[in-house]
Amino acid sequence: MKVSRRTLLRVIGFGTLAIASLPRVAFAARNTLRSLRTGIQPGNKTRLVIETANRPTYSLSYPTNQLVITLPNTSANTGITANLAVGGLVKSITQAQSGSNLQIIANLTKPIAEIQKSQIMILEPNGDNDYRLVLDFMAGTTTANKNSYTTASASTTTAVTASRKYIIVIDAGHGGKDPGCIGKGGTREKDVVLSVARKLKNKLDANGFKTYMTRSDDRYLKLAERASIAEKRKADLFISLHANANPSRKMKGFSIYTLSEKASDEEAKKLAEAENAADKIGVEGFTEFEENIRIALSSLQQHAVAEMSEEYATGCAKSFKKSSIEQQPGPDVRHAPFAVLRSTVPGALLELGHLSNAAEEKLLKSDSHQNKLVAAIVKSVKNYNFEV
Ligand SMILES: [Zn+2]
Repeated sequence: MKVSRRTLLRVIGFGTLAIASLPRVAFAARNTLRSLRTGIQPGNKTRLVIETANRPTYSLSYPTNQLVITLPNTSANTGITANLAVGGLVKSITQAQSGSNLQIIANLTKPIAEIQKSQIMILEPNGDNDYRLVLDFMAGTTTANKNSYTTASASTTTAVTASRKYIIVIDAGHGGKDPGCIGKGGTREKDVVLSVARKLKNKLDANGFKTYMTRSDDRYLKLAERASIAEKRKADLFISLHANANPSRKMKGFSIYTLSEKASDEEAKKLAEAENAADKIGVEGFTEFEENIRIALSSLQQHAVAEMSEEYATGCAKSFKKSSIEQQPGPDVRHAPFAVLRSTVPGALLELGHLSNAAEEKLLKSDSHQNKLVAAIVKSVKNYNFEV
């Protein structure tokens, strides 16, 4: 069972499996159960998926050896059979109608006290799927050997509907009247990143991704416009390309950033201020969008997007290092309030190197080094887990 992360709405950790419930959302229409299934996820997690016609509300309880999910205002569906993965923690599932409530009772192979870790998500409809309430959990001690895990995993994968192309929005920073930073040799950030962005688009397209560029020529775009392109394209991943400048001409190397309203360090803070200053150059009119986006994101969504971004950024740093691209001293992933990253799309801002360093300026201009950067980014995208 695969679920695109793009559709992820809410992630709630419930590490202790204490009784949990989400705020109730009022709705009139009676909900219907569409399907029940389990699968095995990496890390030997059991995933229980409850598919419903409308967005589900739910509460959970945990009698011995059982996980009971109560769905208010929902009808049982006796016409369906639960599709259970071999080797999972759920050995059987029964439906029980209790007044207007439907109870899904998952009988577990282990006492509930031995169930360690979980998360809950509500996923929006996509492709052949309706709304899904997804619960992940795993046993404290795993009994499955590697072979049975692989088998179970493969058998669940066959149930997947034809996967769509993942959508990547590539953002070449700056442009038009905003040159970005400029090297001593006159190399402009906006030109370097556009060149890398074009190469990256070609390579990602060739690797089966669907790509869009926020700009494909030398034009000025507000930061929120860039973020809004990622939103409108329903992107799975947003990659913003930049090059750096530092008062110390000795400073060199790449650095990777994700969004955080609080900067991880003073340097990250200054960098975000410099990159965000691009908006001060331009026309007005997009501040409204930016505010809306910020308001539209619940703290849980922000948390989910931040986690996915972190995962991508960490993998990206790894990929750069593996390609022997010089890294700026410091942590693999830094955090700062970059306006361009404020959206529901997971992503990262890549500072590809320092134009303020003469040797690196030369490298960043060169086709061969740009290709090397592109190859490392492509690898990071291919390694990113687009499904949950
Ligand atoms: Zn920049």
